[in-house]
Amino acid sequence: MGPTQAETTCRNTKTKMDYTIVGFPRIGENRELKRATEAYFRGGQSSSELLDQVKELKAGQWEKLRECGVFMPPSHDYSLYDGMLDTTWMLNAVPERYKRLGLDATGTYFAMARGYQGEHGDVTALSMKKWFNTNYHYLVPELEDGMTLRPEHMDFLDDFIQAKELGIETRPVIIGPFTFLKLAHCSGDKRDFVQPLAEAYADILNAADHHGVRWLQIDEPSLVTDLSAEDVSLFRALYEKILAVRAGNHETRTLLQTYFGDVRDCYGELIALPLDGIGLDFVEGKQTAQLIARYGFPNDKTLFAGLVNGKNVWRCNYENALKQLRDIRKVTENVIISTSCSLLHVPYTTAHEPHLPKEVTAHLAFAYEKLEELRELGRLADLEHPAQDVAYSANVLLHSDGPLHANPEVQRKVAYLTEKDFIRNTPRKERQKIQREQLRLPLLPITTIGSFPQTESVKRNRANLHKGVISREEYECLVRADIRRCIELQEQLGIDVLVHGEYERNDMVEYFGENLDGFIFTRNAWVQSYGTRATKPPIIIGDISRKAPITTPWISYAASLTSKPVKGMLTGPTTILNWSFPREDVPGSVSMYQIALALREEVLELEKAGIRIIQIDEAALREKLPLRHADWHSEYLDHALRAFRLCHSGVQPSTQIHTHMCYSEFEDIIPEIDALDADVITFEASRSKLTILRALVQNHFETEVGPGVYDIHSPRVPSVTEIATSLKMMLRDIPADHLWVNPDCGLKTRNLPETVSSLKNMVRAADCVRATLL
Ligand code: GLN
Ligand code: ZN
Repeated sequence: MGPTQAETTCRNTKTKMDYTIVGFPRIGENRELKRATEAYFRGGQSSSELLDQVKELKAGQWEKLRECGVFMPPSHDYSLYDGMLDTTWMLNAVPERYKRLGLDATGTYFAMARGYQGEHGDVTALSMKKWFNTNYHYLVPELEDGMTLRPEHMDFLDDFIQAKELGIETRPVIIGPFTFLKLAHCSGDKRDFVQPLAEAYADILNAADHHGVRWLQIDEPSLVTDLSAEDVSLFRALYEKILAVRAGNHETRTLLQTYFGDVRDCYGELIALPLDGIGLDFVEGKQTAQLIARYGFPNDKTLFAGLVNGKNVWRCNYENALKQLRDIRKVTENVIISTSCSLLHVPYTTAHEPHLPKEVTAHLAFAYEKLEELRELGRLADLEHPAQDVAYSANVLLHSDGPLHANPEVQRKVAYLTEKDFIRNTPRKERQKIQREQLRLPLLPITTIGSFPQTESVKRNRANLHKGVISREEYECLVRADIRRCIELQEQLGIDVLVHGEYERNDMVEYFGENLDGFIFTRNAWVQSYGTRATKPPIIIGDISRKAPITTPWISYAASLTSKPVKGMLTGPTTILNWSFPREDVPGSVSMYQIALALREEVLELEKAGIRIIQIDEAALREKLPLRHADWHSEYLDHALRAFRLCHSGVQPSTQIHTHMCYSEFEDIIPEIDALDADVITFEASRSKLTILRALVQNHFETEVGPGVYDIHSPRVPSVTEIATSLKMMLRDIPADHLWVNPDCGLKTRNLPETVSSLKNMVRAADCVRATLL
């Protein structure tokens, strides 16, 4: 691919107003990191070969940022797998079970990320959770009693040195102690770790000083969440301790970077600390502007003002951003323009999407284009009359357009929704009776979450269709053959509620978006989800409606092959919205209801085709919960629950509605999950050690549940005993006639042999436990 637009325009430019970014994507423009890491996983290359490749990738990125005139490009925002894992690694907070494996450094690091099963032992991975309100997953540190926190692996210095050798002075990025401690799981008292953590970070700062690091960025996104008085004093205690050690002469300036919201609970404490820079989010931080206007900003510090949205793909509105900047400059002149958060959450460049119409691309800005916007803003900020500038007027014109794709019919339908559209007539308890009679499932029904392994041949068939090597008819024939094999396999295994395997889907959201009006699709716009996994979120460009049947032909075909019930599989409205790039011209709830109306048509059509169990996945319901509790219901949950119910409220009481959720802490929204009024929910539980069970009991949870019995994000095969033990534990809290048996999540990322062995063990374990219930 040739030079991108941003490459050609960014070079050799310098504005008076500095601009920078919080962080950059790392997977590589062509997902080079994924390829390199997966080759290492397969044993196709050694750790040193992998590390060499990574070095090259990093160098390329720093070079790019330098060319674009970015002030002290960030370094060590790059990661082989995840930034929280890197922090765990940096602090040597490696749990004993990984150390005992006796693997080399890279092996130990990846054992924490993915678990390990081989000649050195058998250990599960660290648990994985969603990173604040994003679709990125981090690995949860585990602080064990007696663990000594010592900065052993200061990789950020290696990066700094490497970049310096290339003539690029970077600003290393690390995750701060407050966020690390807040997000860590701790078997004992977290407070025991305050002193050692402060000492470790003080050492880190000293080491940075020693190596001539001029700016060190310490990320503290946890500061934008609701903080108790105890949290605030923990934050202060940590930083006072860390910064006190280095009073006097020091080279390294510290930037405390926050993102994903505002710091209303600790602004006073934050600005009082002897820091050199503070990074604030003016995009998602509703109160950020008010905070600085009201309490001021100290003149001995630099404000890194997050004005360019780091999370969404739309062109920055220069008029708004410059107005915000003018207001900021009334408070302080010491400003550097920045992004609202790391660009990790957006793809690399629109230049790789030549198939998109120009009028659409004109509205989009991915990471490279955002660099260009930062430069433009820097330039415009110095002008006395920016309105006379050509780029500025073009931007104003762009933002004065209406939505790209309007559909008045859908807008009208949403406007006319009434309360009864959200309510299923028969209460759940009665439905459960009817469904039991009609479905005649055994006790502890066994099911899976939907997808089966996307083998090389499944992916090849799809690629061949896109390349035009095979016709659509040939492709559909191949998908049907996969469905047939999948049904046969599940029958052989003894699964009770079957699935069709989701072979027609590349991704649970993209596939739906492709069949709905109002979405556009990119070809190369990958965004990291976790580790080597990336997704290509569709972009919502206007009003949404259903074009044609989405799933019915596949599900009906699967159902025709077996006498067992086959579950219809849909992705829910909130998940479709949350895993797409949303519009900025309407509230998310509008898009959510539009998607729900489209899915409702699909649900009714599946029911009409004789499908008696329909699963509407809401994998991403929890992750976009506003970070502030006060906004939970009014801004989000009220709409998310109603949208879900709108999808299924029209079905017969005998139709069983399932839902599925994963990789979040749901303990705090149990009543809301029950209020989805689904009949069954399956969810991720094995990595989070079944802590959710207690919450279900406490909340008198009514929906039948299938807490995942094994972790599907790890290649290890769970044993029968392990699964049976989990099931028995679940039965202590959940009545047997409410419990389902299933893995944590879909199986699409696993290979077939692992999947077959794991499911075999799962069925055997269910059989053993059933025998004890008779
Ligand atoms: N039904 C989807 C699957 O099985 C659910 C995936 C998810 O929860 N992320 O793949
Ligand atoms: Zn899942």
